[in-house]
Amino acid sequence: MAPTQALFREDAYLKTADAQVVALNDRGGLILNRTIFYATSGGQPGDTGFLECADGSRIVIAGTITGETKDEIIHLPAPDQPMPKPGEVVKLAIDWERRFKLMRMHTACHLLTVVCPFPITGAAVNEEDSRVDFDLPDAGVTKEDVTASLQELIAADHPVFTRWITDDELAAKPTLVKSKNVRPPAGTGRIRLVCIGESASVDSQPCGGTHVARTGEIGEIHVGKIEKKGRENRRFRLRFGPLPVA
Ligand SMILES: [Zn+2]
Repeated sequence: MAPTQALFREDAYLKTADAQVVALNDRGGLILNRTIFYATSGGQPGDTGFLECADGSRIVIAGTITGETKDEIIHLPAPDQPMPKPGEVVKLAIDWERRFKLMRMHTACHLLTVVCPFPITGAAVNEEDSRVDFDLPDAGVTKEDVTASLQELIAADHPVFTRWITDDELAAKPTLVKSKNVRPPAGTGRIRLVCIGESASVDSQPCGGTHVARTGEIGEIHVGKIEKKGRENRRFRLRFGPLPVA
């Protein structure tokens, strides 16, 4: 089966699109020829939304996941939805309000790795609260300092863009990879780099997620907590809004 064309990879701002139903898998998942629904991966949750059939009936999509490979994108209908037939053309609509929050949060997590340039041991992006774990025996920083540095990068309204590089280019620049345990998939020939700043002056790292186009779109955000998670791990939590007054 041809892989689903992942439209969100080139344009994260697509809210609607048309697509054709390719197949229904044995667990009721829908596979389309192309999609704007991001599938859960790399710490970013998959999109929700709906598909609209030609007759106007709607299929609520409760989640989106990858299949056996990352190229396989499976749309998961909510219970008791009408099912389209393979070949049918449907209109896609993602829950944009939710996705935009995830894009703002996800981009903020990249900025956090600029402010805190330590090996990453884990990350999870959510609508209201995200976390990045660092291999860091002693934080040595306060949430006030980190919040101020983040807000500076946001206020500078740096451009965010993607660029594809080859496996060899990545191998020549191992510092691009900030994850301690997770390596970007090698062997596909090309790797997607997410860059921040003119000529990537602020940051670049391999990532397949969706991000805002300029850091200013992140808006107000703060470090809610820096927690100790084991002897050598520190968990930084990001939340929208200003730093609460203690
Ligand atoms: Zn990312």
